[in-house]
Amino acid sequence: MNNYKHILENSGIKLDKFYFDGELGAIYNKGCTEFRLWSPTATDVKVKFYSTGSDNELGAKYLGIHQMIKNQDTGVWSYIAAGDLCGIYYTYVVTHPEFGQRETGDIYAKAAGVNGDRSMVVNLHDTNPEGWEEDKRVLFEHPTDAIIWEVQVRDFSYCESSGVSEKHRGKFMAFTEHTTLGGKEGAPATCVDYLKELGINCVQINPFYDFGSVDEASTEEQYNWGYDPKNYNLPEGSFSTNPFDGKVRIRECKEMIKALHKAGIAVVMDVVYNHTYASHGSWFDISVPGYYYRYNQDGTWSNGSGCGNDTASEHKMYRKFMIDSIMYWAKEYHLDGFRFDLMGLHDVETIMAIRAALNTLPNGEKMLMYGEAWDMFTACQPGTIMANQHNMHHLPDNVGAFCDNIRDAIKGNEFDAGSCGFVQNGSKRNQVFRGVRADTDFWARTPSQAVNYCSCHDGRTMYDKLCVSVHHQNPQYEKRHEDIIRMNKLAAAINLTSQGIPFMVAGEEMARTKLGEHNSYKSHSKINRIDWNRIEEYKDLVEYYKGLIKLRKNFAPFRDHTHDTIYKGMWLFTDNPCGVGFTLEGDAYGKWRKMLLLFNGSKEPACFDLAAHDLKGWWDALVNAEEAGIEFIGEYSRTICVPGTSALILVEQDEITP
Ligand code: CA
Repeated sequence: MNNYKHILENSGIKLDKFYFDGELGAIYNKGCTEFRLWSPTATDVKVKFYSTGSDNELGAKYLGIHQMIKNQDTGVWSYIAAGDLCGIYYTYVVTHPEFGQRETGDIYAKAAGVNGDRSMVVNLHDTNPEGWEEDKRVLFEHPTDAIIWEVQVRDFSYCESSGVSEKHRGKFMAFTEHTTLGGKEGAPATCVDYLKELGINCVQINPFYDFGSVDEASTEEQYNWGYDPKNYNLPEGSFSTNPFDGKVRIRECKEMIKALHKAGIAVVMDVVYNHTYASHGSWFDISVPGYYYRYNQDGTWSNGSGCGNDTASEHKMYRKFMIDSIMYWAKEYHLDGFRFDLMGLHDVETIMAIRAALNTLPNGEKMLMYGEAWDMFTACQPGTIMANQHNMHHLPDNVGAFCDNIRDAIKGNEFDAGSCGFVQNGSKRNQVFRGVRADTDFWARTPSQAVNYCSCHDGRTMYDKLCVSVHHQNPQYEKRHEDIIRMNKLAAAINLTSQGIPFMVAGEEMARTKLGEHNSYKSHSKINRIDWNRIEEYKDLVEYYKGLIKLRKNFAPFRDHTHDTIYKGMWLFTDNPCGVGFTLEGDAYGKWRKMLLLFNGSKEPACFDLAAHDLKGWWDALVNAEEAGIEFIGEYSRTICVPGTSALILVEQDEITP
């Protein structure tokens, strides 16, 4: 049934009057477990017990069904089962006159069996890895201190070159291993040890809640990014070593987070509350049909996300669900931040409520929160203020959004393969000017709201985009192109020195390729995986990123979360037709007083007349076309000619303290 017109008359926002503020789901105690399901419109609800997560397992047994009792004021159905129910699998059997009896998992389930089909009662204490009590969040003074590397669990260690043991390849546990290239002694570090050397301090991990598109019971090759949530409050089973035992995935996910924290790396969870894997027949739909989603006037499902069903964050019980879910992950899994998929489909009030809830945790205001603030059509109440770029001024400085302007300015339009940007031909210069100022003249209130990037999981990798736009007829993605590497270095120099929060997809720094695939969400693992051999093949590029990261960490004005650096010290060269140049003042913070950044996107040298802008004396270079870091690599004065397709970053002489 895909048309809900007849149901909506008694559902949707009208059910908000039954708002229930208490705990829902299976509330576990050693002596008893209470089951609570909110469903004001159900005519009957029962809870059903099983010994296993599916019928195809050893020891599978049906353990009975129990009537739940409804509270007429709140619409909450409850049942208290005596005894220690830890490890018992359960479902609800919900009756709505329009749909009859339907069996569903618990939207609040904290554990589940294989494929998340049956929820599980869990004693969370049993899922803590050794030393979990000592595990601490990795938080930053300001969002602009984060340097984010976006990775998918399977991609990270699918390849043998990762050096990860076979049993942990593609799993959460891969993050716990100390590895070298191909597992060879003395070879360069890979995986988490590599990330420490690279210098990034934050990973954003693509969906690792339970998603529906991969069959956890199968050992066949399957791949999906996982933007298809089935159970929001428990980890994905295919990333665990045993998807059948509900406890294993929880413990192993915690092991991953613990290992990253131990390496000094913050963990941001990619959350997808804007749509679900299933529409008709999802846990939300079965629990309260017509309530948790948005529908068009004609009763069809609103589809702003393009995934078939937009959830309704403006409905009180879904807003509560989002807040509860975020807080659960933050507390139980010690997460350091959240990235909201299609944040523009949520209303500002919900995002504000989540921010306020996180702020109540110790140092909670330092937890990262940002999202895709695209402006999208969705069927919510007219007048609802949505969390898109136009409305970022409604949100505090510690809620950020991806900056599509700098992405497209640096390397051309994302959706047009042939489109070029600044690094390919010196074009889009004004957009780069806007981007290095964190788009603060446009939608971002402060640099801490702007997440700057050239590549993410969506679209082509940086290397592929540069190859296809420059060598249109014959991109040869598998080959090393010196001209492309040079452009890649320039792009990185701009991104990592811009005001805002720098972000990159995993492997951008090793010229990662997906052989031109622009939407690899369900491509073969071999397309998506990180080929760790590239840290040797593209060593110069990796070193360049390493140097830029070091530079960023050593010059505080790059990381200013306020407008100060932009308004007081940032002076732009507007007179050079092919280059972008600006100064940054650092008197209050860093060890260098003034920095000069010159970027040339054209093929010809671009000359900048320093004297004409009252910039006297000699300047020491720290970054040029080939090298980047905090070491002196040359000196310049008066008129500086920057070679084609390159960056030159300098500091005022005599101020350098090696
Ligand atoms: Ca799953």
